[in-house]
Amino acid sequence: MQLTQRAKHVDRHPMTWIERLYFWNILKGMLITLRHLFKRKATINFPEQKRSFSSVFRGLHVLNRDEEGRERCTACGLCAVACPAEAITMEAAERLPGEEQLYREEKYAAKYEINMLRCIFCGLCEEACPKDAIYLSQTFAPSNYSRKGFIYKKDDMLIPNPLTEPETYKKALGERPAKMIGNQ
Ligand code: SF4
Ligand code: SF4
Repeated sequence: MQLTQRAKHVDRHPMTWIERLYFWNILKGMLITLRHLFKRKATINFPEQKRSFSSVFRGLHVLNRDEEGRERCTACGLCAVACPAEAITMEAAERLPGEEQLYREEKYAAKYEINMLRCIFCGLCEEACPKDAIYLSQTFAPSNYSRKGFIYKKDDMLIPNPLTEPETYKKALGERPAKMIGNQ
């Protein structure tokens, strides 16, 4: 009985002496190889060559600072609630007197983690954040040998301070304009 219309009939007749030489089949194979030599390559020489991403590409998360270098995150948990993969966990802490130049709000994330093995890079955490404290950058999570290496901690994601490390800040910002992440 035929289950689909795509079934292929296999020819099982005994091979002729010409077929047993395999010449025609080898030639067919060579022609296919030759055709691929002139086709546009599907792969690139990464990491020497980098693919250009679409302007809406969503990559690795960055925890943002404001223009005075203070952490924007107030540990409200909205990103964790919005995350469909339940990849975000955090612990809140109260800002102490004298820490105003470190944290923008009275509450901040003492611990902030994203499990990149769960993350589907949907960008809902960025959408949900009322403080422009998190955004998805134009870089992707590097490969790793252990599962633990994919649990990104706050220090792995926090953008460098624009006042004390302007060069590394610019590099971390990448091609994403500052106004897109709420810093203008
Ligand atoms: S990008 Fe999506 S899946 Fe990943 S942490 Fe944000 S909300 Fe969760
Ligand atoms: S990143 Fe934004 S949404 Fe998430 S806890 Fe911080 S302030 Fe709230």
